[in-house]
Amino acid sequence: RNAGLGSWPERRRRISPTRDAIWFEGTTTSHAQFAERVRRTAGALAGLGVRPGDRVAWISGNHPSALETLYACGQLGAIWVPVNARLTAPEARYVLGHSGATAVVHGRDHGVLADALRDVVPTWIAAEPPAEGATASLPYEELLADADPEPRDVPVALDDPCLVMYTSGTTGKPKGAVLTHGNMTWNAVNQFMGMDFSQDERTLALAPLFHIGGLNGTVNPALLRGGCAVVVRRFDPAETLQVIEEQRVNSFFAVPTMLDAMSRRPEFRTRDLSALRTIGAAGAPLPLPTLRTWLDRGVTMQQAYGMTEAAPGCTVLDSADAERKVGSAGKPVFFTDLRVVRPDGTDVDVDEVGEVIVSGPNIMAGYWQDPEKTAEVLVDGWYHTGDAGSLDDEGFLYIRDRYKDMIISGGENIYPAEIESALLELPGVVEAAVIGIPDEKWGEVGLAVLVAAPDADRDPEAIRTALRERLAGFKVPRLIEFADELPKTATGKIRKPDLRSHYLEESP
Ligand code: ATP
Ligand code: MG
Repeated sequence: RNAGLGSWPERRRRISPTRDAIWFEGTTTSHAQFAERVRRTAGALAGLGVRPGDRVAWISGNHPSALETLYACGQLGAIWVPVNARLTAPEARYVLGHSGATAVVHGRDHGVLADALRDVVPTWIAAEPPAEGATASLPYEELLADADPEPRDVPVALDDPCLVMYTSGTTGKPKGAVLTHGNMTWNAVNQFMGMDFSQDERTLALAPLFHIGGLNGTVNPALLRGGCAVVVRRFDPAETLQVIEEQRVNSFFAVPTMLDAMSRRPEFRTRDLSALRTIGAAGAPLPLPTLRTWLDRGVTMQQAYGMTEAAPGCTVLDSADAERKVGSAGKPVFFTDLRVVRPDGTDVDVDEVGEVIVSGPNIMAGYWQDPEKTAEVLVDGWYHTGDAGSLDDEGFLYIRDRYKDMIISGGENIYPAEIESALLELPGVVEAAVIGIPDEKWGEVGLAVLVAAPDADRDPEAIRTALRERLAGFKVPRLIEFADELPKTATGKIRKPDLRSHYLEESP
């Protein structure tokens, strides 16, 4: 019978009905109350025609309706499709159309988007009264009030799809990673083992719940363990520090820029952070000064490497090792295996760069309706990440860059990430992206596109000279261009395909 996510609230209602499950803007919901709301959400969706296998999308800033609709889909055997709240209407149209969603739950700031996309999906439900537009959306709370609160009896197995989450689209069009109920369960176990969660865990839902890190970094693991998700609508550094103090938050997941922004606030010194035990940081490398600032406040930091396709956790570097393994992404999490391989599939030697491949019960079933892309990346049970990395003599992983972004110049492999971090250390460089452009003699040469501070000198030769002190000559970009801004994904990652087509006449 139902072994999936939909059963979690029911089991929690049995085991710890009176403990806190969700806190949101001053209202606390117990596990029993949460289970009741999930049943009613399932009833409401079923009443609107949602059947096993149907897709139900969710697009909003952080809000408890994310978790209610996710678990409700689990009870119906339906598939949840979180959509990035920052997408433009054409981008959201692609995701909704590709997933074939038949209903969408949207937040208060997505009324205009709902009106623009009503032709793609028939049923729109407003989780909160919309600020603008969306008069045709159905009111979520009223649907729940009228819904059938009886438990569902739809059989759901761990191998059944739980959600389709679209990747960031950094290297091309977003791909819909199909994550099963088993993927969600085993990632949660990997996470709460690594982060020492107890049934009293109070975790902050800070990063967007439509991303895999925001959803599965600490939030679902804490709920499985019996703890509470303290949901904050959007990231404001000072307000977040206040919620951490007042809600006695023990843990959260964040991206490095969030940790940096919080540590620069005066409230970082004055707020009581004594309940805070551990933080998960991922998505990009965490700068050492930011790490130290947080460690000084008595927390531990788990720097992680992962991706949507792995639900997402693959490796973690505990702060105990952070100083001696600077730049490492750590070691594989408990139920996940990792290798670094050559193109012929054999394992690399110590410190040799190869492709990172991962295997385990957290790895996706495949890409939604894309058997070709699935077959390219899932080979004999191993997911090929497309990331270039190496392992040191103690098995610590170092991520170099994505293979798609690697430049081959005069037979040397150049990893732009290394050059970009050297560029960012130069005064006056605010953003940097390095791409390869064709060259008759060298095959490819590096082109650095920089966003400079307003008062900075824009002298390419001075920048090249400064780089030569830090990097081997062949790594120093041949060309340097300045731009007002860089093209980015909704996640804030630089879109190199767009840069390449802009700077190359013939786009790759
Ligand atoms: P797309 O697959 O659509 O091009 P994406 O790969 O950016 O987008 P995500 O799943 O959000 O989508 O990101 C996963 C990727 O982020 C990883 O494959 C890796 O390249 C990068 N990444 C994640 N964690 C780290 C880390 N700790 N250090 C360096 N890179 C990381
Ligand atoms: Mg990817």
